[in-house]
Amino acid sequence: MPAGGTTGERSSAPDVIVVGAGVAGLSVAWRSAVSGLDVCVIDPRPLGGASWVAAGMLAPVTELHYGEEALLELNLTSARRFPAFVAELEEAVGRGVEYLQCGTLAVATDAGDREALGELHAFHQKLGLESEVLGPRECRRLEPLLSPSVRGGILVAGDHQVDNRLFTSALLDAVRRAGVEVVEAAAVELDTDGRRVLGVTLSDRTRRPAGQVVLAAGAASASVGGLPPDAVPPVRPVKGQLVRLGASGPGLIGRNLRALVAGSEVYLAPRRDGTLVVGATAEERGEDTAVTAGAVYCLLRDAVRVVPGVTELEVRETCAGLRPGTPDNAPLLGPTTLEGLTLATGHYRNGLLLAPVTGDGIAAYLSSGQVPPELAPFSPLRFRTPRAEQRTQTAAGDDASALGR
Ligand SMILES: Cc1cc2nc3c(=O)[nH]c(=O)nc-3n(C[C@H](O)[C@H](O)[C@H](O)COP(=O)(O)OP(=O)(O)OC[C@H]3O[C@@H](n4cnc5c(N)ncnc54)[C@H](O)[C@@H]3O)c2cc1C
Repeated sequence: MPAGGTTGERSSAPDVIVVGAGVAGLSVAWRSAVSGLDVCVIDPRPLGGASWVAAGMLAPVTELHYGEEALLELNLTSARRFPAFVAELEEAVGRGVEYLQCGTLAVATDAGDREALGELHAFHQKLGLESEVLGPRECRRLEPLLSPSVRGGILVAGDHQVDNRLFTSALLDAVRRAGVEVVEAAAVELDTDGRRVLGVTLSDRTRRPAGQVVLAAGAASASVGGLPPDAVPPVRPVKGQLVRLGASGPGLIGRNLRALVAGSEVYLAPRRDGTLVVGATAEERGEDTAVTAGAVYCLLRDAVRVVPGVTELEVRETCAGLRPGTPDNAPLLGPTTLEGLTLATGHYRNGLLLAPVTGDGIAAYLSSGQVPPELAPFSPLRFRTPRAEQRTQTAAGDDASALGR
């Protein structure tokens, strides 16, 4: 991951401190700085989290899960904004990030898997999403190196990918070029006067004042100290492991491939440089990021079932990261019960995909105080308990009487 010390040091307090330099925090910082806010980003290891590990699939349709229709809307909005977002980012840093509009082929390897894919296609149709059923021969016409055991599939022409490492490195670069100070330290505590945010305290006990704080620390977002109980984000780490393979010659496949193999899911995302990203597990194991033999074995076993030529590739890297999961698998975007504290976290499986709506939406809120309509369903306040609601209302009543309203 990219190195580089503290940049853009300042003498006065910024408008906004962003805690966390993963894809969420950097998108917010970049779009906020571009819209004229004075921004500081704090992170002990910029790009040291899940964003660096991820596969970079931008797959609102093939990643669709039953019961996540509201999230689908947000995912589709972000996917539509991706080309313009990438174009502006590439222009800002003067290099490409390999946004590949390659589409995704989802395939089944036995009758049960084919039935499951058929149900997914019916769900796509019900929601008016673009997806086409293909027979085994049509699948192999698109991807000649598919295993003869492939029983059919679905082509989703609008599900793409971006090279997550090029994309997030470019965001870090763009943030710095936009004059944002990047401080390489941990934010250990949020400073408040009980009613509103005053700034953050760093690991060396330095205090950093700011008008607003955006908490975007990924799976660690709930562990920053000083958060009032009502404002602690309901985020938990969900471990994901993946394997990066490669070869010097032409790649084995030309588009994203997802497969159901006897009920278990695997995906293969081909990069332009010959890297093939094979992922990913989803494990509830707390903060553990160890790469395990079992996970690598299962990913490779399933990948080989779909594309036998995978056995010839060299293993370039194995890695694990922590997705910021939430109770409804949707992100937490917007203001909290604590004045001046905004959340941009909980992106779970879709942090890369959601970069445009997160960056632009939160930047718009920070500048105007208005939550954009597309973010409204993802307010962090949706998880408030009735007791917390009551406490907030009482506090608001106290405020109103203190002000004579
Ligand atoms: C295996 C795997 C595959 C994935 N594949 C995809 C995919 O194909 N497409 C997709 O869209 N998404 C994918 N995801 C999900 C995606 O990676 C996440 O949703 C996204 O990276 C979350 O971004 P983030 O910025 O919130 O968190 P992170 O990238 O984890 O960044 C959080 C940052 O906060 C910093 N931090 C933590 N604590 C503090 C603190 N106290 N003070 C300051 N900084 C702090 C960390 O150092 C880190 O840099 C995948 C995830 C995994 C694990």
